[in-house]
Amino acid sequence: MRELTENVYALDKTAGAHGYLVAGSGRSVLIDPGLASGAKAVLAELAGAHRRIPRVTDVVLTHYDPDHSGAAPALQEALGVTVWMGRADAAILRGEVEPPTRARRLLKKVNPMHPPAELREIDGETSIIPGLSALPAPGHTPGHLILTWHGVVFCGDAVRIQDGRLVQFPAFLISDKDAALATAELIASLRPRLVCPGHGKPDRLRA
Ligand SMILES: [Zn+2]
Repeated sequence: MRELTENVYALDKTAGAHGYLVAGSGRSVLIDPGLASGAKAVLAELAGAHRRIPRVTDVVLTHYDPDHSGAAPALQEALGVTVWMGRADAAILRGEVEPPTRARRLLKKVNPMHPPAELREIDGETSIIPGLSALPAPGHTPGHLILTWHGVVFCGDAVRIQDGRLVQFPAFLISDKDAALATAELIASLRPRLVCPGHGKPDRLRA
């Protein structure tokens, strides 16, 4: 894994989407472990970095899509981590609520979902470890979260960043357009010094 800025790392081995690690004092938090097929490689990467980073105690899923959440069950089994996610997305991941759009219901048929045995649900701004907060950021999915850490925003698939500007995902991947626009405004209002997206390169936000 490589350090992007102090105590923030990009994982090399997550499959499907980018995973990030925040090293707090005495414990680390992994954001979006990626597809289930990449879980073994992610565990090996974490084991290889154990001298540099504190033990991973928590995994935060920005949303339920399998390219972000799929490896969470394997990580929970192997490491005993607490897995956090937005309440509305937890209900979808557990199969209690159908995905909100036709495209998303089709995606679910192609990619059956496997929730971790235990989920800690988030329904408002929540501190994960001192300095790292999760904020509801609906739009891409109803229970999408973003995370903030000393001016760094981990935005999952709430937005993409292109040439220093926040860009929306294609409409068919968005469950609520108005909410997605409000979430982009929220992210811009945080004036991040670095935006770490689920897809594409981390970048500075230019006005
Ligand atoms: Zn997604």
